[in-house]
This record gives sequence, C-alpha cells and structure tokens, in this order.
Amino acid sequence: MSDSAVVESKHAAPLAECASCNHMLPPGLGEIKCEICGAICRVSHQPTVDALISEKIPCPHCNMIVVAGTDERPVGLTCSECSGVFTLAAKVVKVEIECPACERKLRIRPRPGTRQLDCPACSSAFNVTF
Ligand SMILES: [Zn+2]
Ligand SMILES: [Zn+2]
Ligand SMILES: [Zn+2]
Repeated sequence: MSDSAVVESKHAAPLAECASCNHMLPPGLGEIKCEICGAICRVSHQPTVDALISEKIPCPHCNMIVVAGTDERPVGLTCSECSGVFTLAAKVVKVEIECPACERKLRIRPRPGTRQLDCPACSSAFNVTF
C-alpha cells in the first residue's frame, strides 16, 4: 500500500434488526445474514442509498469534489481532475451506550449478540446485547 488514500463515507444505513430473532444485523444494505440465527434479511433504506449514490467527496489529492455515483462501499474512485485514485470506505457505525454504574457514555462499534464491556471510568463490567 503506497499512496492509496482512503476516505470514510459520511452515510450509513440505520442499524436494522433481524426479523426472526430481533438481534442487530451486521451493518450494510441488501441481503444481510443474521449472525445470531442465520436468517437472511433484506435490508433496504432508500434515503441512505440515495445519499450514498450522490455523496460528494473531496479528492484527498487535490480537493476536487468527486461524486460517488454508486451505493457500494468500499468503492475505488478516480478523480477526474488529477487522476488520483482513492477508496471510499464504509462509514464506521458507532452507538453510544451508558455505563449502568456511573452513567459514563461509551462509544462502541455494535456487534450482534451479547458481549461484556469494561467501563474505562469506573472499571465495572457489564453486558450489552444488540
Ligand atoms: Zn436473527
Ligand atoms: Zn484529485
Ligand atoms: Zn462506569
């Protein structure tokens, strides 16, 4: 990886829930497989798709505005001004949760299922389920 630039997309679909077990689905659009029960769920969110296709990203090489033109992420784009290439990556979805002991807010990347978190402020451990 020499001079390949990566820009994070500004848009992501809202987190969806599995229709059969109500756990969180992995982020994304289209046919998403539930990691908990294995059900295939169709996730669609037209406003996000529209926003992704028309997303304007400043070229990391010359700052010229480049339009994504697709809802695929990651996607390789080429700047028409400087011919520089870069990757437009999927937005990293984070959720805010509150420590039940000290109410400190933690920002985490949600993953389906239950896992244990340790609060950095009061070191108490608690479980979160998505
Ligand atoms: Zn499920
Ligand atoms: Zn450029
Ligand atoms: Zn805490």
